[in-house]
Amino acid sequence: MARKIGSRYTAHQVLGRGSAGTVWLGEGPEGPVAIKLLREDLASDQDLVGRFVQERTALLSLDHPHIVGIRDLVVDGTDLALVMDLVRGTDLRSRLERDRRFAPEAAVAVAADVADGLAAAHAAGVVHRDVKPENVLLDSAAPPGPGGAPPALLTDFGIARLVDTPRRTRATRIIGTPDYLAPEIIEGLPPRASVDIYALATVLYELLAGFTPFGGGHPGAVLRRHVTETVQPLPGLPEPLWQVLAQCLAKAPASRLKAAELGARLRELLPELAGLPPLEVDAPGGSGADREAGPQGAEDGDDGTGDPFAATPYDGRAGAGAEAADRRRGAVPLVRSAAPDSSRDTHTSIRLPTAEELAGFAAAAQEERAARGRASAPSARPAPATARSPTRYGSAG
Ligand code: ADP
Ligand code: MG
Repeated sequence: MARKIGSRYTAHQVLGRGSAGTVWLGEGPEGPVAIKLLREDLASDQDLVGRFVQERTALLSLDHPHIVGIRDLVVDGTDLALVMDLVRGTDLRSRLERDRRFAPEAAVAVAADVADGLAAAHAAGVVHRDVKPENVLLDSAAPPGPGGAPPALLTDFGIARLVDTPRRTRATRIIGTPDYLAPEIIEGLPPRASVDIYALATVLYELLAGFTPFGGGHPGAVLRRHVTETVQPLPGLPEPLWQVLAQCLAKAPASRLKAAELGARLRELLPELAGLPPLEVDAPGGSGADREAGPQGAEDGDDGTGDPFAATPYDGRAGAGAEAADRRRGAVPLVRSAAPDSSRDTHTSIRLPTAEELAGFAAAAQEERAARGRASAPSARPAPATARSPTRYGSAG
């Protein structure tokens, strides 16, 4: 059913639904467009509409091959709509769900595209604030780039800032997934361009590993890890790439690369990554059985449909050593660290395990059925959710 948006656009068909509204395939004076109709409660918020209109110029002026262009902002009665360039393809989250992880060359190519888009935005004084796989669209209609990766475009500029007011934050609790939040945001500092770098490095890590560096479990635990935990090297990742990742995941914003530098460094690394297979890295918390109920267990969708870009299906074999170590500690750390953290339970659990559960855990470690037992045990620990898709809490989009 066609729906008029303002005087110039017609929305024909729903392309997707997001947290901030519904995205329609539409038609404008210059051809097909994507139209994001903001949720009614957002559209009826006078303050928000005011800011939306204020941002108009900045958002409309962002013009870059790796940014989904905003062509128009329509305020029409109760409708508030963003008219965007139409991207024919999926978002990066859907691709990640299908393939679980990318080969390094493809992962780096995608991240380099996003870095270039960010460089243009930052140069224009715009901080994205919500870089995550959901906000990266892959243009499958364009010729694939290095590693077979489709060109990547960053979308949803300005949406996070518009929706993320203190008042609304209270109403919807945490805005967005906490997996990509830079530590300085958690500490209450104003978000600068470097928060986008941290978030993009998190995305790149996730593309490579299949899980985010600090995600999993209770959102409070995730926030705490951003501030206090150090990211551990990914086994099998070429050192120069690891250096770039680690630098951009630095706690201190000033230590991170700038977007343009990051884009350039990543592109320099592409030749030496060519042909490398996806990493075989075990998700924190162990492999196989104890994640069976979570993301990996559900990962059965890859039928290798001949897409040159499709990654090797995950086989879930790796990490026996880490798993044994986890059992010895009687805990399943969500993030590996050199020294055992005595208070880890408080940030990997919603509730602390009872003494019986802990005893059961230790006993299970002696037995062959430990792995299966742990998966079905009355675990105090939620399955790390992030390998597949981060927990969302009233996302701002
Ligand atoms: P939100 O940010 O509000 O959660 P999204 O921007 O993720 O919503 O949009 C929801 C879905 O709509 C996306 O997953 C994607 O499939 C589709 N979509 C969004 N923007 C475009 C676009 N410019 N072109 C084509 N499809 C789009
Ligand atoms: Mg979005």
